[in-house]
Amino acid sequence: MTNFAYSQEALDLLQKSDKEVFSALMHEEIRQSEGIELIPSENYCFPEVYPLLGSVFNNKYSEGYPGRRYYGGQENTDTIETLARERAKKVFRAEHANVQPLSGCPMNEAVYFALLEPKDTILGMDLSHGGHLSHGHPVTNMYKIFNFVRYKTEIPSGNINLEHVRAMAKEHKPKMIICGHSSYPKEYDYAGFRKIADEAGAILMADVSHLGGLIAGGALKNPLDFGFDVVTTTTHKSLRGPRGGMILCKEKFAKAIDKSVFPGMQGGPHMHQIAALATTLKLVQTEDYKQYAKQVLANAQALAKGLIAGGAHLVTGGTENHLIVINTFTGFGITGDIAEKSLDEAGITLNKNMIPDDPNTPMKPSGIRFGTPAATARGMKEKEMDFLSKIMIQVLKSPHDAALLKSLHAEVKELCKKFPVPGIKG
Ligand SMILES: *Cc1c(COP(=O)(O)O)cnc(C)c1O
Repeated sequence: MTNFAYSQEALDLLQKSDKEVFSALMHEEIRQSEGIELIPSENYCFPEVYPLLGSVFNNKYSEGYPGRRYYGGQENTDTIETLARERAKKVFRAEHANVQPLSGCPMNEAVYFALLEPKDTILGMDLSHGGHLSHGHPVTNMYKIFNFVRYKTEIPSGNINLEHVRAMAKEHKPKMIICGHSSYPKEYDYAGFRKIADEAGAILMADVSHLGGLIAGGALKNPLDFGFDVVTTTTHKSLRGPRGGMILCKEKFAKAIDKSVFPGMQGGPHMHQIAALATTLKLVQTEDYKQYAKQVLANAQALAKGLIAGGAHLVTGGTENHLIVINTFTGFGITGDIAEKSLDEAGITLNKNMIPDDPNTPMKPSGIRFGTPAATARGMKEKEMDFLSKIMIQVLKSPHDAALLKSLHAEVKELCKKFPVPGIKG
């Protein structure tokens, strides 16, 4: 096994210089190839991303923006950053794009500092109901600076009730409303959120970190088509690019956003990451990728159907995107940590997760969360999802049966052999 993007000379040199790291790299390639990755935020990047992440663009300091840099020698870095920005604007129908955020959390922090003052109120989604840490969870640094208030989903349906969001907006008068999640298996009513933000006079932001690729591929709605002011997305989840973040916004916020990213928060942008993002944003415009985005959703439907048939309790009763949350506590009498560990032993990687208003604790929550972007990138379709759902149900029904887990793991390995990971040669 080796990733075909690395040159043999570079690999030989690494092996000679650092055996421990080389060995971990080889084992990670095997781990990624032999198990099924169902963590919904993870994916296999396009193979073209690897040579760019390992490229000489890593060596260059490019503080500033194309045409306005603080160092010389920018003829090639200006080319790639301009390509990335223009492609981002085209793919997401955005007036402005900033492609420099180093990752998802700093991208959201840059937006808060660009458009708000300390102590301003931000209305976002509660973490245990599907929101993200970076939307003002009390453990984050941002919580010390801004006044976050949080809307919740309805119990037991798990759906967002816009009347609840409207009442929160009326009560707290937020300067910003955030629509975005990392575990909400439903489409958003973007038009409904726009109306509430208009009534409240609030800036409206969507964090589509999980959904970016599915929006780019035309499989899900784009909040920018509904008049959102700012949209943020990571670039390494469904988009299949390098790790990073991206801010898309209306022209009237462009200057404030750019200033907030640099020099407000960051120094030199990671130009190897921006080069890889530029290529990613070309690849997501192909018919192949549009087909991929559709298949991610079709696979989530097939997986959900198989799990429901096997007795699983799905939060919101199903899925309208790439992800599924199940309540293993009510469905199978086990907490999410036990489910996560047993599935791992059967070769299926996913994560334990809180369910809305979870009666259990974050380390022993009531559910698990998973999704189909990575498995779909290997070429798996509905038939394989049905097969996987049956394996998962067997594990969840008998999580402590070591012999069963071992034999299921062998079946999962067989399946993986037929679907190589993009960029890794078996
Ligand atoms: C993943 C995610 C982020 C954070 O991204 P990192 O790259 O891990 O910092 C932010 N918001 C949402 C909704 C996410 O899902």
